[in-house]
Amino acid sequence: MEITLGKNAGFCAGVELAVNKAKEISSQGDVFCLGEIVHNSQVVQDLEKNGMKTVNQLEEIPDGSTVIFRAHGEPMATYQKAQEKGLKIVDLTCPNVKIIHQKVENAKKESFILMIGIKSHPEILGTSGFAGENSYIIETEDDILDAYKKFEKTNLNKIFVVSQTTFSSQKFDDLADEIQTNFCEADVMIDKTICNSTENRQLEVTKIARNADVMLIIGGKNSSNTKKLFEISSKNCEKVYAIETVEDVANIAFEPNDKIGIMAGASTPKYVVEEVKSFLERKT
Ligand code: SF4
Repeated sequence: MEITLGKNAGFCAGVELAVNKAKEISSQGDVFCLGEIVHNSQVVQDLEKNGMKTVNQLEEIPDGSTVIFRAHGEPMATYQKAQEKGLKIVDLTCPNVKIIHQKVENAKKESFILMIGIKSHPEILGTSGFAGENSYIIETEDDILDAYKKFEKTNLNKIFVVSQTTFSSQKFDDLADEIQTNFCEADVMIDKTICNSTENRQLEVTKIARNADVMLIIGGKNSSNTKKLFEISSKNCEKVYAIETVEDVANIAFEPNDKIGIMAGASTPKYVVEEVKSFLERKT
């Protein structure tokens, strides 16, 4: 067996920063993370063993405690609510996401904001909170007409388009083209805010999958960027497996001459990736 591990597999810089900081403060008592720190159950469990608690709503946090805002970012209203409750905010929003918040806040004064991304994804919901009323989330082509109808009711003539940082680069380009066509009377400014780490990972997984007999994509089941790696791999390789830990590899039947490609999402710890690689190396 020949094994190729992607150089970009595992934590991106934003997640690494957030998880390290959360580790540092998780044992200090009364530390709550609003939503899972990353979409990876191993990482969440490790931090919870250390004392951090995960909650879904600010209302669950006792007044005066510490709240962690994760790398995905939060809408502006959540900052205000947390302040009203007297919570100490540890803001671990990725600097790349903060830049997008800033951009839409500036642009919304004279532009209608279109955010390309997954409607239910926390990062897009956070950005949407900064974009305000005159905005719309575009997940598929079908959303463009509804966005246009909303735009028509405003007196704006400019469109500012941003992306979820972990969205598929190819899908963004396709949707951006459609937006240009459908909003042809408006002044459309496209800002492809997909982060470099996402672009590099998607490019690398494409190359690896084209040469592999079997692809293993490691990441949490709820991780949107991991799902995209799976989708891209499936277009380029016949056998693709989504796995969360090394235990999932034990059930896969490999052929002796298989070329195996490995890639992991931005929320997958490096040690999980190494465990999978070592397990396969022992089989060769
Ligand atoms: S994918 Fe990019 S923007 Fe998102 S947390 Fe990682 S480094 Fe930050």
